[in-house]
Amino acid sequence: MAKAELEPVIGLEIHVQLRTATKMFCGCALGFGEPPNTRTCPVCLGLPGALPVANAEAIHYGLLIGLALNSTLAPVSTFHRKNYFYPDLPKGYQISQFDLPLCSGGKLGEVNIHRVHLEEDAAKLNHVGVGGRIDQANSSIVDFNRGGTPLAEIVTEPELSSAEQAGQWLRLLRTTLRTLGVSDVNMEEGSLRCDANISLRPAGSDQLGVKTELKNMNSFRFIERGIRAEVERQRALIEAGEEVVQETLHFDPRSEAITSLRSKEEAHDYRYFPEPDLPPVVISESMLSRAAAELPELPAAREQRYIEQQSLSAESARMLAWRAELGDYFDAVCEADRSLDAQAAANWVAELQGRLGDQEAEDSKVSASALAQLAALVASSKINQGGARQVLDQLVNEGGEPAAIVADQGLEAVGGAEQLAPIVAAALEANPELTERLRSGEMKPIGVIVGEVMKQTRGRADGEQVTALIREQLGLS
Ligand code: ADP
Ligand code: MG
Ligand code: ZN
Repeated sequence: MAKAELEPVIGLEIHVQLRTATKMFCGCALGFGEPPNTRTCPVCLGLPGALPVANAEAIHYGLLIGLALNSTLAPVSTFHRKNYFYPDLPKGYQISQFDLPLCSGGKLGEVNIHRVHLEEDAAKLNHVGVGGRIDQANSSIVDFNRGGTPLAEIVTEPELSSAEQAGQWLRLLRTTLRTLGVSDVNMEEGSLRCDANISLRPAGSDQLGVKTELKNMNSFRFIERGIRAEVERQRALIEAGEEVVQETLHFDPRSEAITSLRSKEEAHDYRYFPEPDLPPVVISESMLSRAAAELPELPAAREQRYIEQQSLSAESARMLAWRAELGDYFDAVCEADRSLDAQAAANWVAELQGRLGDQEAEDSKVSASALAQLAALVASSKINQGGARQVLDQLVNEGGEPAAIVADQGLEAVGGAEQLAPIVAAALEANPELTERLRSGEMKPIGVIVGEVMKQTRGRADGEQVTALIREQLGLS
């Protein structure tokens, strides 16, 4: 039997810590690196008789997320108890949502959203060995500061088809959440956490294969590598005639090893039931209008605006819209000189960012008005591309004014036929053999002549103009 092509199917579950002032169901401030167990109260410690109260700000943030993801917002939603035993969960259950989540459906970019619900985070377990605060090896100590932090869980439909697409989409989601201001969305610090569900199926099939779930990967790079490794593992199994087993997996980014955390048989039965201590959440008109009024322009809309109103390439529009800070910088460049071509400005922003590594453009020595000035000098042919790159290098290192740098270093372009024609003629004369070959229609040696002119002008001529002059002087059309 011919082997059918296999295609990956990926669905993501993302947990986002919400940046509210207080926890989901009590008045404790959120913990940010304070000494362990200093942000606790009877409610988040699960002491008997303590009663939870839902955090209105967390619900507001949930509505903002729902609006940004084009979800349907439930007029009434409820909290459930999700029962399981673990040392980081003092009540023996997590308060989450079940059949009536705050947001259902929706779409971000090309990916459909299944649902978004609110819940509380667990406490943090710290595993300590010999030499830790606990004398015995392999002990765990619990810090309840994190316990009860508001979480939004965002679940996609199983629609992504590659590790790269998943990584790209997560970046869009992160920028969207950051623009909303609802979370720090920092993967290393755990305020954005992602599980990836992965299966394979014959290409073009509309059935879903058996999935596995890769747990809690804490960087975009690890997520992409983990998905890639799991896709290959499943592919090898299927091609060897074996079956993929439904299980929860851990990916170790150091060794690339994938290990089983639990199988389907060990899966929890959470015995969900309605939380009797919390009334249903009723979303009022005023809550909806407050959320709608606060909704900023989101990355997907910004990307469209760049394409439609400023005619940027799809690639530039995405780069600027998905990195909001860079987009703001680009806007400032365009604002500084409204006569600039937007795509040229975007290209110079990309050139600058390429030189900055992890530093943000706005924190660099290159002000938006300096970059605008540089782009204008190129646009008016006062300097050529090579000269402009030299100026940009100096701006990045020392700051300053492009026009002054050009004057200081004598970087003005050598332009105009009057200036360039004699230099081109001299270069042709100095290379009679190459000139003959060019005349006979062999175009390869033209680069040598252009190079010669560049040398004579110390790189300040315009390459295209030089090429045109060579053709003109040799009578080639
Ligand atoms: P579970 O009950 O195990 O959490 P769900 O059906 O609720 O499973 O889906 C959880 C996540 O897994 C969703 O993001 C969904 O898109 C994804 N998913 C479900 N089935 C598959 C599959 N066969 N392959 C890949 N992803 C899947
Ligand atoms: Mg799941
Ligand atoms: Zn508390």
